[in-house]
Amino acid sequence: MDGSALVVYPIFNERPSEEYIQGWHRHMDETGSPETYENVSTNKPDALENVVLLSGELQVPPAKRLGNRLVPCPICSPTTPKFSKGRMAWFPDEQTVRFIGHDCAARHFGENYRIADRRYKIEQRCRFYQHMWRNFEPRIDGLEQFIDALMPVAKAVQFTREHLDGNADGFAAFLRGELSRHDGRIFIKEDTGARDRGQIIFSDVLLGVVDGLTFISRNFRPHSTLLSILDVCADIRMPLPTWQPIDGDNDTAKEIIGRGRRAEWMLKTLRSLRDDIQDATQFLRDKNLALLEQWGRNDQSPFISLVFRWEGIGVHLRAETYVGAYYCNMVVLDDFYGKPIPSALSPALDPLTSTPV
Ligand SMILES: [Zn+2]
Repeated sequence: MDGSALVVYPIFNERPSEEYIQGWHRHMDETGSPETYENVSTNKPDALENVVLLSGELQVPPAKRLGNRLVPCPICSPTTPKFSKGRMAWFPDEQTVRFIGHDCAARHFGENYRIADRRYKIEQRCRFYQHMWRNFEPRIDGLEQFIDALMPVAKAVQFTREHLDGNADGFAAFLRGELSRHDGRIFIKEDTGARDRGQIIFSDVLLGVVDGLTFISRNFRPHSTLLSILDVCADIRMPLPTWQPIDGDNDTAKEIIGRGRRAEWMLKTLRSLRDDIQDATQFLRDKNLALLEQWGRNDQSPFISLVFRWEGIGVHLRAETYVGAYYCNMVVLDDFYGKPIPSALSPALDPLTSTPV
């Protein structure tokens, strides 16, 4: 900028178009000089009350820049190099656009900058969710099929878990408390035979690892969760209301962000729920229950006695602990093991990580 005259182009009586902003990005990436793009003003703005941010914080590629590596700040040092990270901004009162240093802008505009930044973030969220909705369209059928395939196992697992909680209230929490400290690993202290001034020296020996702790995890209700997920899918089938950046932070923006966040929750939950269901089904495996019984017979376990094994159509539980006694004949429905669990959610079904199928 050194030596060249400051310029002003008061032609933006409306917010600059997307095409213009995209062109500005390209120009900056190619030249490292966001201030030399067509119709970008470089003089000091007169009216600082109103500012609309058109980009996030952008690092100017300094190697592409001719001469001085830093960009002048139109606000405090229009002719001398000042910053390398800035934002595109529209000054509606002046009808101009400028590239402003992000630190400088925060300092000069104060509260106005924070308001503009908040507005920009809302705008980004809305655009992101509008884009997400378009990407959901070709995938929603596939997502619902995936959910339907998980449904029978989820229902069976929840049925057994509710049966356990209904009959042996507190047992899942008790076992979880005992097992979660070491992620399901059970350690027993063994006499090493060595003595230190008459004291026995013990070592920790791994008795085994209990699988499927998700089955006894807090409030594990996979069927109810899947039903909530289906509700969100139904909502995704409804179009988002029309909204443009010029509309600002209105009720429509709030609706889009609220619905978008639920859709994000749905995707995240669906992915982990599939793994959780798979894990939970491991808990009632013979080998797992045999390990728990073996632990129950050990003097160091928190159990006075523990019977936990398959009998007929379900699992028989009888436990006596220092907290209390528990009893339950857990019914295990055929679908618990009878239905295959679909393999992990295909990346092609994720509207955030892939191009349309
Ligand atoms: Zn400045």
